[in-house]
Amino acid sequence: MIELTLMLLPVAAASGWYFASKHYAGSSVKSSLDHASYFQGLNYLVNNQSDKAIDVFVNLLEVDDESIEVHLALGTLFRKRGEVEKAIRLHQNLIARPELSQKARLGILNELGMDYMHAGLLDRAEALFIELEKHHEYRLNCTKQLLSIYQQEKEWDNAIDYGIKLDSINAASQQILLAHLYCERALQARDEGDLKGAKNLLKKALKVDSLCIRSNLTNAQFALRESKYKAALDYLLNIKQQNIQFVPVFLDMYLQCYDELNKPKEKFNFLATAEAEVESPIITKAFVSVLAEQKGSENAYVFIKNKLEQKPSMANLLLFSDLSLAKEDSSNAVLFYKSLSSLNYAKLLFHCDKCGFDSEKLNWMCPSCKAWGAIQPVGFLDSKLWL
Ligand SMILES: [Zn+2]
Repeated sequence: MIELTLMLLPVAAASGWYFASKHYAGSSVKSSLDHASYFQGLNYLVNNQSDKAIDVFVNLLEVDDESIEVHLALGTLFRKRGEVEKAIRLHQNLIARPELSQKARLGILNELGMDYMHAGLLDRAEALFIELEKHHEYRLNCTKQLLSIYQQEKEWDNAIDYGIKLDSINAASQQILLAHLYCERALQARDEGDLKGAKNLLKKALKVDSLCIRSNLTNAQFALRESKYKAALDYLLNIKQQNIQFVPVFLDMYLQCYDELNKPKEKFNFLATAEAEVESPIITKAFVSVLAEQKGSENAYVFIKNKLEQKPSMANLLLFSDLSLAKEDSSNAVLFYKSLSSLNYAKLLFHCDKCGFDSEKLNWMCPSCKAWGAIQPVGFLDSKLWL
């Protein structure tokens, strides 16, 4: 409530100035009434009765181009407080005034559009912003709002059009956003049975953003569904080139392809390279397993023992204890292994570069700040266990 009172002070000041200018312009009965109302409004404000104060100040102000900023500030205030209905009513009342200039009218329409967005009245907001975007000074905001509407409505073709528009009028690149919009549209095309169209859209995604992991991943998933393991593996290996940190996230798919293609040697080399380049308990575990399978458990034991000495971690300790168990089957070793394996050390963690949102799931669009492609794999719970 204190915050609201502070925000109302400029409104009160503007009302005071407005009242004074009318008062000195000519003494009248109305001026006396204004005078009384103004001090009544201030009294409400001082006594933290903000709602009543707002009503008084709104009634006190006449609507013209001089006072319009005050009205708009009030509307924004209502919206920020979550009182969207009040904001809509205020803006709708203002727009009905015939004495307004075109400039003031456009400003109110823009605010009304923002009210509709907050109220979830997307159809109304869409119609309004389509009309308003013809006016240069509102083009950027209209484009942003329409892009947001079409994403919420999953109208991906329209979203792509507005993503391209935003890219052309805004200094910040929209390539990552556009790539994800193409990917969304590709999934829609696939659901409609148009696999060829879907693949073309994925190509477009990669063209606008050569680092678009999702495009390669979706292509790999399409190929896997058709049992085209060679093609799937090629797409997955592209991801390894784009950002090797994503390899642990999709490791099962890589391993499935190598196994289906019956390429144990390639699988070994792939895991050995990944193990050397990425610090990931998921990769290390898979590599140790393949090492034991293809080169014998003693080699795997020596590898993980060295690794544990160089890089002590809960995950490496667990792998070491697992392989030790095979060597000496004592009850203590069993207990040790059971305790360690109850820790879910290999759970992936993701982090949003834009807003800092942490999650255990890969979201292409950040659930918190709604940015596309900002979430990266950052590590594992393992590292937190040492804190
Ligand atoms: Zn975020």
